[in-house]
Amino acid sequence: MRTQRQVVDYSLQKRAVLRELLAGRVGTYDVCDASPYLKNAARFHGEPTDRRCPICRSENLTLVHYIYGDELKQSAGQARTLAELPVLAMTLREFQVFVVEVCLGCDWNHLVEQYLLGRDGLTGDSDATGEQDAAGAEIAGRRRREAQR
Ligand SMILES: [Zn+2]
Repeated sequence: MRTQRQVVDYSLQKRAVLRELLAGRVGTYDVCDASPYLKNAARFHGEPTDRRCPICRSENLTLVHYIYGDELKQSAGQARTLAELPVLAMTLREFQVFVVEVCLGCDWNHLVEQYLLGRDGLTGDSDATGEQDAAGAEIAGRRRREAQR
């Protein structure tokens, strides 16, 4: 998504949990604890994947996108379909997305990643402008060097 930024990847944490499970230091009851709310969110707003559940290996994982942010008001903390996110990203300045993978078979669930979306990430705003200026200066510098040759 065009305005996606400040991505935090939780795959290392997930692998650590799976390692603990394989080593028998945690039980499946501890990690397969998806709440009824999370499972409903997965059923109604979830994004199906073709990745097998790492625990039961019989169901495919579903990704649930939760949105948070002051601008969302009463919608904060709700799940949204992936298709709804770009629309929100064009209307709101900034909101946080948390992506959770869920298995509807064994209730395995884990945070996958989080990121920011919203118009603030588009060119023309503070951060994006800074990057563009740097790139622009580099190109200008190269042109100058070429001209001197
Ligand atoms: Zn499973």
